[in-house]
Amino acid sequence: MIQLIEKNDATPICPHCSAPITALAFRELRAFLGRRYIYFCAQCNKVLGISHRKGFWMG
Ligand SMILES: [Zn+2]
Repeated sequence: MIQLIEKNDATPICPHCSAPITALAFRELRAFLGRRYIYFCAQCNKVLGISHRKGFWMG
């Protein structure tokens, strides 16, 4: 089992440009049933992740 720890005193670092992630850029992706978001570094625009929420009812 792996514990999940909330660390509000640590700043995430972009794995691509090593800039601290103080602002996260995202764009909306429209799919047939629902929408997803692609998240990327505001400094270098490299993609950090994509949301995998499914379904239009979940926003
Ligand atoms: Zn970056």
